[in-house]
Amino acid sequence: MTIPFLDLSRPWLRLWCAFLCLILPLILGIGLLQKDYEKQLQEASALQAARILRLMEEMIEQADTTNQGVISLLDRPCATATLDLSKTAALASFVRSISLAHDGTFYCSSIFGAREWVDNITTFEQGKLALVSGNTVSPEHPFLSVRKVVHSGEIVTVIDSDYLTYLLTFTSSAAVSWLRVGDNWLDRDGRFHHGYELPLSPYLGIARSADYPISVYSLYAPAPGLWPIWHSQRAGVIVLITFSLLFSAIMWWLLGRPRSPIGELARAIRAQEFVPFLQPLVDARTQQVRGAEVLMRWRHPSVGMINPDLFIPQAEASGLIMPMTEQLMQKVASALSQQIEEIPDGFYISFNISSACCKDLTLLNACREFLAPFPPGKIQLSLELTERETLTNDIPTLSLFEQLDALGVKLAIDDFGTGHSSLVYLQQFRVDTLKIDQSFVQRIGTEHLSRHIVDNVIDLGVRLGIRLIAEGVETSPQAAYLCDKGVDMLQGYLFGRPIPIEQFIQSMLARPEQEALFAVEAST
Ligand code: C2E
Ligand code: CA
Ligand code: CA
Repeated sequence: MTIPFLDLSRPWLRLWCAFLCLILPLILGIGLLQKDYEKQLQEASALQAARILRLMEEMIEQADTTNQGVISLLDRPCATATLDLSKTAALASFVRSISLAHDGTFYCSSIFGAREWVDNITTFEQGKLALVSGNTVSPEHPFLSVRKVVHSGEIVTVIDSDYLTYLLTFTSSAAVSWLRVGDNWLDRDGRFHHGYELPLSPYLGIARSADYPISVYSLYAPAPGLWPIWHSQRAGVIVLITFSLLFSAIMWWLLGRPRSPIGELARAIRAQEFVPFLQPLVDARTQQVRGAEVLMRWRHPSVGMINPDLFIPQAEASGLIMPMTEQLMQKVASALSQQIEEIPDGFYISFNISSACCKDLTLLNACREFLAPFPPGKIQLSLELTERETLTNDIPTLSLFEQLDALGVKLAIDDFGTGHSSLVYLQQFRVDTLKIDQSFVQRIGTEHLSRHIVDNVIDLGVRLGIRLIAEGVETSPQAAYLCDKGVDMLQGYLFGRPIPIEQFIQSMLARPEQEALFAVEAST
């Protein structure tokens, strides 16, 4: 997978992508599970409140029934009613006491018998219910008064708060619940509050009674951290982790997958992985560096440095060789133009060009751009065309070379002696340089025949007035022989291997003028 200028197959980017593919679904998934968990809490709170309310309604209904059952006692004096009143209170569930009143004055109680008092503190919600903080007997002990008013008087049944607090806690100890009657509240510890302020929480469940003026509030507060999610949604968490790991592994695999060779080359161009190595060309007589041949290397992020033989043929076949050459020329121009003062005038720089680059004017533009940063005469640009590839002498190609010639770009025939350049061909393309193939040079001093070929090539060059460069010079006798025969420039490991351009600029251009690169032995 490649995004322009961002090669996701680079090790650290690949690692980042895989990490993101792991972490993002995890964060998203945990967020969703958290939402689900919160929804569950909300529902549980609402359910809890409804359950408690139902039980409280039943309790109040029983108190109502008790009130109903003692209406007839309102017509009797307290002395005769007390026993029945006490008996009813004792037998009825949850009831603490029953009191009778006429015209707002209580005159009879199931606990104290005949006793008169005016209840001027209790305000009954809807005239039916009152949650009270306590009375004179037990001021700290709240209770719920259930009232019934009839034409002959009123009856109040008191439910002890112990029963109510029991209901507030018994269904679940994890939830916190409250009973509310008007502005009065009872908490799960049996404490009475007036105007209580509930904790603000989105998980609060509220149940309001349709029959009585009471409400129940319940709250399951979420536990901090991720543990409750794991606890409540174990299967979901396992699926999420498995999915994220799988997603991340697939991304890792996809980004590391070998691409098609052409796709890989295209990616490498975008990633600027093709770099120039320079090999020095020395003057055969003065032994000074007079130029360099630019040789392409592929700095592959995972494989390392790759030699051109392994990728140039594919680049040529796919048509990618031109953009690669353009990139190389730009890099060389940029590096050399930063050191213009160090470069001697007329410095010879040659690029290898495939015949695939000679079909249109892209090459011409690339040469123009290459020369642009240098003052005229500073650089002598040469293009090397291998003799093994035949150039078609059609009109566009001839026109291209004419324009290159006009621009001052020289043409060299590479690997000379291995192919089939006819003399006509040499003249037609205004060849400036012949590069004697290293296979001949390396046989100098070993084979009679090669020496003849070298001699003939040199003769040809001299007669045509073409500059001669011998490549693959590895020994001093080879250098001395070629120098003696009149070859202009020498190139080979004897003078230096191809090295990165920055290193070339540092070591070759900064070399003191007088230092000799090789010792010429007596020619044979
Ligand atoms: P070439 O143009 O004939 O380049 C000379 C090759 O011989 C280079 O191999 C160089 O490293 C090697 N060489 C130089 N001196 C010696 C020596 O003394 N002894 C021996 N044994 N070898 C020596 P390299 O760099 O591997 O390049 C191989 C070929 O790849 C080049 O042959 C050229 O045809 C092609 N090439 C390199 N760069 C480019 C490029 O930018 N564009 C194109 N189209 N082809 C390129
Ligand atoms: Ca070459
Ligand atoms: Ca060559």
